[in-house]
Amino acid sequence: MSNVLIIFVDSFPYQLLSCVTHLNSATEKWPIIPGFGYSVNIHAEMFGGLLPDDVGYFGEWQYNPLASPGWRIRKILPLLDALCRPYVMNRGLQYLLTRNYQPGHIMPNIRLRDLDKFAMAGKHILESPKTYPHPTLFSEFSHLNVIPIPQLPKGTRDEQLYHTGLDAIAQHHQLLIPFPDLDGFGHTYGTDALPYQEHLSHLDTWIMHLIEQFQSHYPQHHIFIISDHGMVNVTQGIYLDIEEIVGKAGNHSYVYFSDANLLRVWVRDERIRTSLYEYLLQLEYGQLVSPDERQEYGLTSKHFGDFIFVLHEGLAFEPSTFAHHKPTGMHGYHPLDPGQQAIAIHYGPQWQHEPPQRMRDVYVMMRQALNEQW
Ligand SMILES: [Zn+2]
Repeated sequence: MSNVLIIFVDSFPYQLLSCVTHLNSATEKWPIIPGFGYSVNIHAEMFGGLLPDDVGYFGEWQYNPLASPGWRIRKILPLLDALCRPYVMNRGLQYLLTRNYQPGHIMPNIRLRDLDKFAMAGKHILESPKTYPHPTLFSEFSHLNVIPIPQLPKGTRDEQLYHTGLDAIAQHHQLLIPFPDLDGFGHTYGTDALPYQEHLSHLDTWIMHLIEQFQSHYPQHHIFIISDHGMVNVTQGIYLDIEEIVGKAGNHSYVYFSDANLLRVWVRDERIRTSLYEYLLQLEYGQLVSPDERQEYGLTSKHFGDFIFVLHEGLAFEPSTFAHHKPTGMHGYHPLDPGQQAIAIHYGPQWQHEPPQRMRDVYVMMRQALNEQW
């Protein structure tokens, strides 16, 4: 069986590889085009070759009234929403009403009157890699051990994972070590800020030590350093005026969910489909995902929205259905935008197969290495 170490760094942009010395000196490094959307989908493509159409979700939240946290109290939601006009009150009551819904997950900035529309749909592979409901590297390769992410404050987990990973190498010749923290540094501080740059530099050093440790235990090996997407600074907030132009949203007209930079719109009344389309078409700060792109990226299901709109790189909706304020850094823009490219780095015998270009190729590459018979 082959010896394979996979080091996964959440949100390591290919664009910033030149900021670190060790990893940048690797001879085999490739920019990778991520899928549309966020980690919850990109991880399915990276570890299972699965596109949104294959897993049945796009994003963490989807339009699904019956499974929504507010369905049973839907009749009083408009009244509660009207009574709680000030934002703090609206969000406070929302918190009280939803605190037992999917504990452990962030509750987005859903208005009280929309609590009967959206439900959580996406599943994070790395939360339970061996029991994910679709086939992945983790179900196929029983020897592939995944270091669990510790229950520590964000920003302090990576150092712990480095030490745990270092110790685990002697016992596991097929091992995945995740580093989840860079993502949060990017969202909170942006990529130019000192905390982000410092963390990037720590990762570079830790990963180099892990590589050396693995190489010394297993002289014959494949080592991959991979990320799921990039990260760019957000330069401008965008106010979404869809309801002012097209009319009030609702279960009987249309429904929309705006993540930081993705907008999904579900048409509930066919008579307003054209107005919605025309509204989205004339917006200057982004683009509608075309039917060809939806085919290419595995987004054809109508459950993902009749329309999917993505902001230009560096912009963010403010407020959005996800957050009241825009983040300082963000990812999830058009997969071909330069700041969105992820990384794939390989150490070992020179890679003899096609170099990877897309996230699904990274899956194929890792699967080939795990399957090698030595
Ligand atoms: Zn993120």
